[in-house]
Amino acid sequence: MRFSTIPLALVLIALMSIAARAQDRAITVRGHIICFDVSNHRLDCEKASAIRFAFQATDEKLYRFLPTDVLTAMFADQQVRQMELQILGLLREKDQLEIVKVQAFKEETLHDVYYYCYVCSITSYAPGPCVCCGKDVELIVTPTPIN
Ligand SMILES: [Zn+2]
Repeated sequence: MRFSTIPLALVLIALMSIAARAQDRAITVRGHIICFDVSNHRLDCEKASAIRFAFQATDEKLYRFLPTDVLTAMFADQQVRQMELQILGLLREKDQLEIVKVQAFKEETLHDVYYYCYVCSITSYAPGPCVCCGKDVELIVTPTPIN
């Protein structure tokens, strides 16, 4: 009896981990970027101490981003923060969103948002200097192609 309970426990652990992964579901949320300081106090994004970003959906639900998510780099750009955004992401845990794609609404039309270096013809998802030539990349907001 004692021995048979061990494999059963292992099976349960395996099933629980599969269930945990199944919770990572793809979602699409619409809303705005909001900012927090290091102590998790919400503040004005234009304040210098604003360093953490989160997403407030139109239904008021709040989503955090993974600290390792490189796609959050574009939220450092005030122009991106001021737009109404649509984020396609994977929901991890209860409110943690891993970004797959960031889009923006302009005049109720969905637009792709990215950065582009006209010197090197390189697309990136972070503002600032181009990784190739060092010239500042340009924010591109272009209507999402309809398939
Ligand atoms: Zn370049």
